[in-house]
Amino acid sequence: MKYQATATGTKCVTFIPGDGVGPECTAAARRIIEAAGVPIEWEEHHAGGLVFEKCIASGVTPATIESVRRTRVVFKGPLGTPVGHGEKSANVTLRKLFETYGNIRPVRELPGIRTPYTGRGVDLVIVRENVEDLYAGIEHMQTPGVAQCLKVISRRGCEKIVRLAFEYARSEGRQHVHCATKSNIMKLTEGMLKRTFEAVAPEYPEIKASHLIVDNCAHQLVKKPEQFEVIVMTNMNGDILSDLSSALIGGLGFAPSANLGNDAAIFEAVHGTAPKYAGKDCINPTAVILTGVLMLRHLDELEAAARIEHAVLVTLEQLAAEGRGTGDVVGYDNPKRVGTRDYTDRIIANLGKRSAQGRVRDYKPLKRPPAPPAPPAPKSRRVVGLDVFVESDRSPVDLGRSVEALVAELPVALKMIDNRGTMVYPPTGAITDAAEQSRCRLIARDEKGELSDEEIVAVLSRLGRKLRWSHVEKLQEFDRAPGFTKAQGED
Ligand code: NAP
Repeated sequence: MKYQATATGTKCVTFIPGDGVGPECTAAARRIIEAAGVPIEWEEHHAGGLVFEKCIASGVTPATIESVRRTRVVFKGPLGTPVGHGEKSANVTLRKLFETYGNIRPVRELPGIRTPYTGRGVDLVIVRENVEDLYAGIEHMQTPGVAQCLKVISRRGCEKIVRLAFEYARSEGRQHVHCATKSNIMKLTEGMLKRTFEAVAPEYPEIKASHLIVDNCAHQLVKKPEQFEVIVMTNMNGDILSDLSSALIGGLGFAPSANLGNDAAIFEAVHGTAPKYAGKDCINPTAVILTGVLMLRHLDELEAAARIEHAVLVTLEQLAAEGRGTGDVVGYDNPKRVGTRDYTDRIIANLGKRSAQGRVRDYKPLKRPPAPPAPPAPKSRRVVGLDVFVESDRSPVDLGRSVEALVAELPVALKMIDNRGTMVYPPTGAITDAAEQSRCRLIARDEKGELSDEEIVAVLSRLGRKLRWSHVEKLQEFDRAPGFTKAQGED
């Protein structure tokens, strides 16, 4: 079910006003949607600040979750996340609970919003994977001074986001999809997105597919953003580059977004709670209003969505002609600043007018790709060794000899030790400012054999007699291909 509707066709939406400037922005969007005559039953619930205050660590109440389970569609304002004290982001909780794996962030030049890019026709969509990657939030202190965050990327996750990017391109009649990754460095994780992109792209022959390295993508976005139509990325890269892209068209006040999954969709602007502007009737609600337009398309209200989009464009054209605008456009102290409520009223008054300058695309309903099957099981797999992460401030040579002596009678041999990915034993001459954590790579002595769990436990138990280990990783081969990368300097 894409969304819930009553017998009379009224669509049900879970409405979360949000923290900070959230209530003002979501109220503006809701007024406009209602003025456009779209029949929506809003189920108002809370998440974020108010909920954290009630000591609910997830930031989301059971009633909110129950409502989303029913409606499958959320329209929300930004939520504040207390920094650094254990509370998880309520936004991330919602996205993960409902597996909204795809974050769609359109960025387009708007009439009257002058930027250094004005006139260049910036009109792109960033499709960001939304639930995996470093944002899985799996972090550990491995020693008192070394922290680790796991970057988790699944083939199914890659397939879902890549297909969503191509389907989104199709729904908007776009002809080129880029995939930006850091696969040159992270060959297994970022590389998985690149390989999946290359495997899926031929299924969309009418759409050109190109890969580029994500740092070059950042460079190209600043240099020549008009070359992009759709860019698909892993979670953190997409998060950073979509904020960068928002700045190309006038800032976060104009950046809408949608979180799409197979079972639910969450609509929220890119920006946060901007607390310094809260309650002052000065915040720019355009991002949230355009987020409402994305939601209406999801609810198959294409005509109302286009009407509101035109009304926003017309309003921006009128304000520009009058030398007026929201605070972020003309300055918050400028007497020509238009307040949040007046701006909303003008958009409502402009419903039914068509923009002369700004183009509204001819959208087709987005075909949400079905969940892909599990990847095929490998024909063969075996454990060929293990990486053991140990805490030590000894010299690499001292540590290496000690590990060699400890495992001398066991079925593994020390292949190398690295410090933060750079091989330091056997000595290579590398000058490293070593941290107190090293990785010892132990390989099965029998090249054709496989290490059993009992043997691995015996290795850990032996190492544990003299060394403090914090983390162990099996080194596996799948269909004879290594499922692990080499350290810098390892042959
Ligand atoms: P932010 O709230 O997005 O604000 C950063 C700056 O962006 C503002 O100071 C303002 O810039 C500009 N801005 C944001 N929204 C705007 C709007 N509607 N119109 C015009 N300008 C706007 O980011 P933050 O200060 O880093 O985060 C504040 C809180 O929001 C944090 O608790 C964070 O966790 C949360 N947050 C929530 C979400 C979400 O719910 N999805 C997303 C991001 C952040 P100027 O100062 O230049 O005017």
